[in-house]
Amino acid sequence: MAYKPLVVSAIAKDTGWPIDGHKIYVAKWSYDPDSWHIYGWEDPEAEVMAKTIWQSLTEAGMQLHDSWEDFKADWDAEKPVTDMVLTFKDEQLEILKVEQEEDPDEEVPGDLPFPDVKVEPRKPTDKGGILLLPMKKNLGDVSESHPDWKLISCPECGAECYEFPEAHRLQLTQGVKLMCTECGIKAGLVKAYSPKNMPHPDGNRAKRRAAKKARRRKS
Ligand SMILES: [Zn+2]
Repeated sequence: MAYKPLVVSAIAKDTGWPIDGHKIYVAKWSYDPDSWHIYGWEDPEAEVMAKTIWQSLTEAGMQLHDSWEDFKADWDAEKPVTDMVLTFKDEQLEILKVEQEEDPDEEVPGDLPFPDVKVEPRKPTDKGGILLLPMKKNLGDVSESHPDWKLISCPECGAECYEFPEAHRLQLTQGVKLMCTECGIKAGLVKAYSPKNMPHPDGNRAKRRAAKKARRRKS
């Protein structure tokens, strides 16, 4: 199945940002073992998270908005506010709980009834890009199995597809464009699923391990 990062809940500390003392969800992706990437937050933290992202962008000289009001308007309208990702060091987090173990993406998917479209980990420097959403006509009604998925119309063709929370987060934080898997297939972004034509983008398992080791040696 698709790669999943390690996700933990934690209390932020010593960042100097408004988020200090608040609970957040952060992820560690295999391509970036030295930092934690913001992964999510709960409603009570939304305001303080908006202020934190505003402040961190301003400090980094990456602020695209003229004012806090301007930023907050986009934030409240759920528009992308940046293509940067907020990251934390180990010492800036008091980890509460492992919410999701890392899933290293080494299984061959079985009898999937629809194209197995992968959502690849994105680097903090990634800009824009396209994220593919699963289609209702392939999955049927998911309100029981995925109550947090939102049924939306594909911005390209209008077909009904599901926006999952991570897609929404990436749209907010990295400005990705969303479209349904069919539009993605038409655009040549993905191929219909078959085990042979979906090689891992970073090569095979042995190569990925070697690359990971090389990165560790460097740091
Ligand atoms: Zn579409």
